[in-house]
Amino acid sequence: MNAGIRACALRRAYFRFALALAPVPVVLWLLGSGQQLTAALLFCTVLTTMMIGTLMPRCALFGRMIKQLPQACNQVLFTIDDGPHPEHTPAILDILDRHHIKALFFLVGERASQHPHLVREIIARGHEIGNHTQTHPAGTFWILHPTRLWREIADCQETLAALCPNHPPRFFRPPAGHHNLFTALIAQALGLRMMLWSARGFDGVLTDVPTITRRIAQRLKPGAIVLIHEGTPVAVEVAQTVAALLTANRFECEPPASLAFSDDEMVVERRASP
Ligand SMILES: [Zn+2]
Repeated sequence: MNAGIRACALRRAYFRFALALAPVPVVLWLLGSGQQLTAALLFCTVLTTMMIGTLMPRCALFGRMIKQLPQACNQVLFTIDDGPHPEHTPAILDILDRHHIKALFFLVGERASQHPHLVREIIARGHEIGNHTQTHPAGTFWILHPTRLWREIADCQETLAALCPNHPPRFFRPPAGHHNLFTALIAQALGLRMMLWSARGFDGVLTDVPTITRRIAQRLKPGAIVLIHEGTPVAVEVAQTVAALLTANRFECEPPASLAFSDDEMVVERRASP
């Protein structure tokens, strides 16, 4: 990666950080001049805004993201996070083949390095791979500073691009969907577009497959981006039931490379949700 692009992106990210801290001296001045209520209101407003933008996965306050397919058609994008996994990935690939579904696998760089044959197998079966960070620091990703964020995303990109030089990731998904003030900016500088989802069943925390499937089914509609995970106790079972659900509802799951992603997902989504 060009050092100049990295330096420019980090400069912009730290500038944003400085802007975000701008209210602090104002709060201190208000406190010093005896205006405690105004200081508290300003502090809470800024803090709440930062927390909403960071911890709510589908909130696009800090940058653009893809949350559903832009076109009004019967297409659904099936996305599978946290792989590759030595047992789950081969089983899920077989399930997808049986249902003629092409998916987008958001892979973790470290795990990809441990199972490079699985990464190549995903590509060989006609699916696409995406960037899901190098180490998947799910608990702390939302508070990472720009330099560490760059390393997480850039290292994963390097790992996956080295394994599949003709199919480098085009999309980035943050662990747990948490993205702070800098995430979209850094992903964009690395040539990636941030992708979240519109239908998930919380299979990362729940283990009741009917409940997981029902939650996904409730949010399933043309243009949906469905999220499931590898590495959970019910990963293969969930993949099987969701694939069957997509087939039963006659949704088309074409190769992600054939799908159109416009630059105005936000506008399209607003139009699609009156
Ligand atoms: Zn994840």
